[in-house]
Amino acid sequence: MHAITQSGWVEVISGSMFSGKTEELLRRLRRAEIAGQSVAVYKPAVDDRYGETTIGTHNGRQWDATVVDNEGDGPLEIVDADPAAEVVAIDEANFFSDALVEVCNALADRGVRVIVSGTDQTFRGEPFAPLPQLMATAEYVDKLRAICTVCGEPATRNQRLIEGEPAHVDDPTILVGAAESYESRCRDCHVVRTGEREERPGRRA
Ligand SMILES: [Zn+2]
Repeated sequence: MHAITQSGWVEVISGSMFSGKTEELLRRLRRAEIAGQSVAVYKPAVDDRYGETTIGTHNGRQWDATVVDNEGDGPLEIVDADPAAEVVAIDEANFFSDALVEVCNALADRGVRVIVSGTDQTFRGEPFAPLPQLMATAEYVDKLRAICTVCGEPATRNQRLIEGEPAHVDDPTILVGAAESYESRCRDCHVVRTGEREERPGRRA
């Protein structure tokens, strides 16, 4: 917390998928740990699994995390989950309801350093709530870029692919457990399919 005011603050780490958001989150947590600060980490129950888990990156670093209900008022449980925590980190923030904004502000008001990580755009290239609200109310915002898998320029967008083809604009924003894949792409190479949406064999609409 700030020494004079005793208040905390909110840091947002955002950007496209594959831009190193979780890696940056873990770097900050490691530094807090070295300083002897108490850290609590949370992630959403996107696939309905609760309990203890880890957040991790592709290079093998990981951190213990608590899975919380990400829908409706579910995120509010984070506020009082660990009253001793000096640093609270929340990964995959884009999967949380708008209640996460209230959670982050309540913690910061109490003197907690809050670090939130999540992608800021849907596969359509639109703002992905609640990241826009978090980025607007946070004290610190870092927007990371990946590298476009098509042209090699800096990438800010999430390209959803279904069987190798760009997803349709009418597809749901969050798909859990589906056979989709993602690439990071730049504005120019990002594609959202429009027009008639054909049914795919063996795939629910
Ligand atoms: Zn590109």
